[in-house]
Amino acid sequence: MTKKGRILTGDRPTGQLHLGHYVGTLANRVRLQDEYEVFLLVADYHSLTTHPNKEDASATRPNSRELVLDYLAVGIDPEKTTIYRQSDVPSVTELCLIFAMLVTVPRVERIPTLKEVMDAQHIEQPSLGLLTYPVLQAADILHLRADLVPVGKDQESHVELTREIARRFNTLYGELFPEPAALIGEVPTLMGTDGQGKMSKSIGNAIMLADDAETVRQKVMSMYTDPKRIRADIPGTVEGNPVFQYHQAFNANKAEVAELEERYRAGKVGDVEVKKKLIVALNNFLDPIRERRAKNAAKPGLVDEILAAGADKVRPISADTVRRAREMMGLI
Ligand code: ATP
Ligand code: MG
Repeated sequence: MTKKGRILTGDRPTGQLHLGHYVGTLANRVRLQDEYEVFLLVADYHSLTTHPNKEDASATRPNSRELVLDYLAVGIDPEKTTIYRQSDVPSVTELCLIFAMLVTVPRVERIPTLKEVMDAQHIEQPSLGLLTYPVLQAADILHLRADLVPVGKDQESHVELTREIARRFNTLYGELFPEPAALIGEVPTLMGTDGQGKMSKSIGNAIMLADDAETVRQKVMSMYTDPKRIRADIPGTVEGNPVFQYHQAFNANKAEVAELEERYRAGKVGDVEVKKKLIVALNNFLDPIRERRAKNAAKPGLVDEILAAGADKVRPISADTVRRAREMMGLI
């Protein structure tokens, strides 16, 4: 089958994947595996932008394994999708260096994720690496000359910068790069269990795809809901309430969700009932994912083989793009 184009997207190996990843980007990756040539990046260098110390840096290795197991668990097929680790393909950093000359410092300082990440992770001064994180991301996308980038809403501004960099390169040196489009998931931003912002793996407000049923129960029971509802007979707000956002995203029983919303708004249902039904819905959704995960985790060498094959496939594509870029610039 002729493919419609190329997809590149990825995740930082800072921990396991969560429900936000699923609705923000994983579901699209799985859905488009047949139509597109899909590449998934385990972005270990990106992890260093916020976690540069030795302990966190070396944790990217076991975390990479968890990430790949999560991919397989949600239905990524390694026969169709190429999975590779960023640091296994060093030529991407060469392209990042070239791109860094095409972007001003105020431009990267204006990217909204910078302030969000600094606030969330209590970083007072960004390192140069954190500042140029979206430039490396542009190189990740463009060294494979990808057309489509399935990401959560928080990453949209990074794809916009990638488009600007592609345009700038093409104008200065000649047409080499496509201007990739972002593909935002069905739920652009899934809130955290704390209701404070987006679910993030490094903030501790996430329900992981690998969480067992008891962990899911505990996390849901302590979730933030409408704070004004101190009694079940007080009318509640569904909008901006993470418990209902999760119901809408993961409860397959749509009639139950509609009925719960109606009763909640009328002050005719307690939070405990709404949460108990969410626990059932989430565990139904997660059960097959957990099963596939356990099966693959028991296969020794599987993840290493997938990552080695991925790097072997990506290296020549990347090297070819970088060589062409240097040629067009008149460097060779
Ligand atoms: P970290 O806290 O380490 O930054 P993260 O949870 O933000 O982790 P990333 O690896 O930065 O995860 O993001 C991977 C992909 O998942 C990106 O495309 C991002 O937009 C998407 N994503 C992450 N969190 C959410 C969310 N809560 N809702 C929707 N999409 C999300
Ligand atoms: Mg993030």
